[in-house]
Amino acid sequence: MSTSSSEDEDRFKVLRGLFAHRNRTSVCPACLKCLSRPDKVKEHCDGEVKKGDANHAGLLFRSPSFETSYREAIGYSDEAPLVPPESWTACTAIDTIIEYKSSIHAVSPASKLEILFQIAENSAMSYICPLHLTTHDSFQTLRQHWNPDSGGTSHGKLAAEPSYDFKIAYEEAMGITIPEAYLPLDPSIPGRKSTSPYFEIEYVIRRMNLDKLRERYDAMARPLR
Ligand SMILES: [Zn+2]
Ligand SMILES: [Zn+2]
Repeated sequence: MSTSSSEDEDRFKVLRGLFAHRNRTSVCPACLKCLSRPDKVKEHCDGEVKKGDANHAGLLFRSPSFETSYREAIGYSDEAPLVPPESWTACTAIDTIIEYKSSIHAVSPASKLEILFQIAENSAMSYICPLHLTTHDSFQTLRQHWNPDSGGTSHGKLAAEPSYDFKIAYEEAMGITIPEAYLPLDPSIPGRKSTSPYFEIEYVIRRMNLDKLRERYDAMARPLR
């Protein structure tokens, strides 16, 4: 499914907002894992070095090979004219990392969105509730969010097994119609025994009706303002 670049930009803004909403704005340049603060990224790097990971060793701030290691982590070649920012905070800021990584290819909204999906994957934000845009580390924890006992009331049949009830609830949540062939209505079809692929963050953010996505994001983000 191809989307226009202004659509990609809007979808990027929503996803970037979800990171801010979850207070995750600092990224390890080596493994693209997003954490809450620059000092948490430093702790993470220290931990990886202790485990013997060479990719993180050079990233310890102000180590003699910091500049080279940072460039390598971002994916720049040796000759690329990149001088990392002065502070560790700026070096690990999610926007810095996205800007640098996307500029290796071409600074397009599509590549920026792609990088953000990668960061989400690496940061235990692989699944998302299409109604509330809460992010989850697994399909199981998303299902716990849907559980009426844990306060979920409007989730309807989203938690249903593959069925027509599920299709209706899912299309309603996403604001789109999906051809039957693409929905896991028949549990006997290999690979269609679980509805989990339809709640992967990339699938949902890319396919949800854009107006609906913006509306849900506004509703979710409002209490922060
Ligand atoms: Zn790392
Ligand atoms: Zn929900």
